[in-house]
Amino acid sequence: MNPASMKRVFNFSAGPAVLPEEVLAQAAAEMLDWHGSGMSVMEMSHRGKEFISIYEAAVRDFRELLNVPANYRILFLQGGGIGENAIVPLNLVGRKAQPATVDFIQTGSWSSKSLKEARKYANVNVAASSEAEKFAGIPARDTWKLSKDAAYVHICTNETIDGVEFQFAPDVAADTNGAPLVADMSSHILSRAVDVSKYGVIFGGAQKNIGPAGLTIVIVREDLIGHALPICPSAFEWKLVDDNNSMYNTPPTYAIYIAGLVFQWLKRQGGVAAMEERNIAKAKLLYDTLDSTGFYSNRIAKECRSRMNVPFFLRDESLNDTFLAGAKERGLVQLKGHKSVGGMRASIYNAMPIEGVQALVDYLKDFEKAHG
Ligand SMILES: *Cc1c(COP(=O)(O)O)cnc(C)c1O
Repeated sequence: MNPASMKRVFNFSAGPAVLPEEVLAQAAAEMLDWHGSGMSVMEMSHRGKEFISIYEAAVRDFRELLNVPANYRILFLQGGGIGENAIVPLNLVGRKAQPATVDFIQTGSWSSKSLKEARKYANVNVAASSEAEKFAGIPARDTWKLSKDAAYVHICTNETIDGVEFQFAPDVAADTNGAPLVADMSSHILSRAVDVSKYGVIFGGAQKNIGPAGLTIVIVREDLIGHALPICPSAFEWKLVDDNNSMYNTPPTYAIYIAGLVFQWLKRQGGVAAMEERNIAKAKLLYDTLDSTGFYSNRIAKECRSRMNVPFFLRDESLNDTFLAGAKERGLVQLKGHKSVGGMRASIYNAMPIEGVQALVDYLKDFEKAHG
């Protein structure tokens, strides 16, 4: 399939990010003529039977992979994670008298961005924050000061920029008269098993761990649908979207198709449980290497380190450019850290094979030998 001249790199980008090569090859083979239709998926009507079959298979496979219970709906939207920062309050605060209060657990850049946006639609209570510790950990559940009558409680279960991941699904209902838990899972959805029933809403942009940018997946418990504020844009009103099987407006058809191919690939890999085992092994390999020397460091508390996004620093930051240039020569790319954190960051999503992490680990050791 690959012409001999083509060289694929190990891409550690935080997103848009690496996709399984098998999926890209299949998409290439089907590009001009999908299953004898004489068309590319890009050229299909979203209302035609070909695309409807692609959409239905994608929803079915996603539900199966994540074990989504029957009383939850799966919506395919546009707008990304940042769009959801507005779309979530627009759909949920209407369940309470206005202005409603919403609770946020602030654990990094993304939850910070989300709570800032929510202030346009609600009173925001920052119930717990690790900002004073530069987001190096997650505040213990028993320190959260949740509101008695919050419209919802927002968490970001994997902070892509800071490299912090929830290793537990918090119970919030008891302290809040049953407020639903809303989770931004953009950067680790499908990387680990999730008990969906603990959440009211789970959302994520596809471009980290699922597929191309442009598709946003929302999983929402049925009773939370139908309370949108009158000002909510129709394209983002969950009830309208759900009543129309995510086709109230034209959905991101090609992104849905690729996501569907990724879902099939995940099933062939053994599903989410098998991916989780591999992701644990990949993360262990990388963190163990970083921890084994003072030449590198990761400053996140061990019990909440992300398996997906691994920020790290060189002890001597004047070597950063040399490190990145040497990595690129070995086909290890997109390792530069986010500008707000600095240093390096390796994103090791589902589609990053262990061989890629091993190549990075080998490079880390060789670089230390040469410069340590
Ligand atoms: C990338 C990301 C977002 C933003 O996604 P957009 O598609 O750019 O809107 C939101 N939350 C998390 C956790 C992310 O990783």
